[in-house]
Amino acid sequence: MTTSILQALSCADDYDPNSLPVDRARALILSLIEPVAGRQRVFIRQALDRVLADDVISPIDVPAHDNSAMDGYAVRFADLATDGPTRLKLIGTAFAGRAFQQKVGAGETARIMTGAVLPDGIDTVVVQEVTAIEGDMVVIPPGQQREQNTRRTGEDLTAGKPALASGKRLRPAELGILASLGIAEVTVHRRLRVALFSTGDELCSIGTPLKPGKVYDSNRYTLWGMLERLGCEVLDMGVVKDDPLALEAALREAAASADAIITSGGVSVGEADFIKELMTRLGEVAFWKIAMKPGRPMAFGRINSGTNNNKGGAFLFGLPGNPVAVMVTFYQFVRPALLKLAGIAPDDDFPSFPARCVDALKKGRGRTEFQRGVLFRHPAFPAEWSVRPVGAQGSGVLRSMSEADCFIVLEPEREKVGAGETVMVQVMTGLV
Ligand code: AMP
Ligand code: MG
Repeated sequence: MTTSILQALSCADDYDPNSLPVDRARALILSLIEPVAGRQRVFIRQALDRVLADDVISPIDVPAHDNSAMDGYAVRFADLATDGPTRLKLIGTAFAGRAFQQKVGAGETARIMTGAVLPDGIDTVVVQEVTAIEGDMVVIPPGQQREQNTRRTGEDLTAGKPALASGKRLRPAELGILASLGIAEVTVHRRLRVALFSTGDELCSIGTPLKPGKVYDSNRYTLWGMLERLGCEVLDMGVVKDDPLALEAALREAAASADAIITSGGVSVGEADFIKELMTRLGEVAFWKIAMKPGRPMAFGRINSGTNNNKGGAFLFGLPGNPVAVMVTFYQFVRPALLKLAGIAPDDDFPSFPARCVDALKKGRGRTEFQRGVLFRHPAFPAEWSVRPVGAQGSGVLRSMSEADCFIVLEPEREKVGAGETVMVQVMTGLV
């Protein structure tokens, strides 16, 4: 690590770690992250959800030849009368994937199938449904358009031009594009390795009976799921006690092998002191109070690897302990950071749009709130999306995340929301 994280942060304008707006925190994190350098050649079937590391330049035109988009008759537009039907002599059939040997002369036509190469001189296809057959003549009605029902060479992808840009996450459409170019292998960024552990003496792992005063560790499972969805290799390090030696060992081990470390719990005011001291000793970590709810306390920085493996350590995201706060801070800060670290171009974000909030909402001034909601179509307002907050909004109520399909994002200036007012929503469905 050449640039110092803490130095870079303290030089940023209006940097107040004790009251950091959400957008500012996200921008600061992103400004300190560069995509990982490692790359890998993979077959396209292994490339699903991976991130393209180089531009793919099209080696061929797709389609490779002018061809028919419909079953019909191949004609020269110049042969067609505009004021009445045209009779053309039928000379044969052009099939897809087979060379058509005959020449279609003036006043002639050939039956042509979808995907068949347009014979020389042919520029237009007339769908068979509008034609009539009279002996060996085909009757074409007036009103045809030049080049209709044809597909032109290179109209999908052009030889020599970029077909896919680096940073693209490869979805089924991109696998198909690569195959249509005859490309069997691509270079992708290596997968991110992300280590995670939960902290807290009150935590109990599943599979053991719950003793009085303890809670089952759920954060490790939500975090595991969110990281798997992003395509990371997850290193689950279990529960670590609120004990400096145990925490130090866990952080060192994680930093030696992972690109990023995600912890939950232990960054709130009551607990931060010894963790602060420890993390400061092991690397460079800033402790923030973000002007948001849920998820106010958060730590961000780097932990040095402490080994000679040249890796320089791992980014640290110290998330709060409350289960909803974990998910909200993950989606608002960790997800965009990991996308950038994975090399993904920055347009891959949650869609956000206005919706009509059917209930009144309470809201604290000066912070961004991420309430959980469900989008629906209200019969009285069919032209717009309506949103209904899910029941209990406590930051420990994980059920609210399960019931929701969106975040209702309430800006810092907003004091309350009256029933029927417009709010911004961030859609989670399909993305998380
Ligand atoms: P903390 O941020 O450590 O003060 O934790 C805040 C709240 O979140 C406490 O009620 C914790 O019991 C709870 N909590 C912390 N970690 C977890 C976890 N891994 N799973 C479930 N609840 C947790
Ligand atoms: Mg704790």
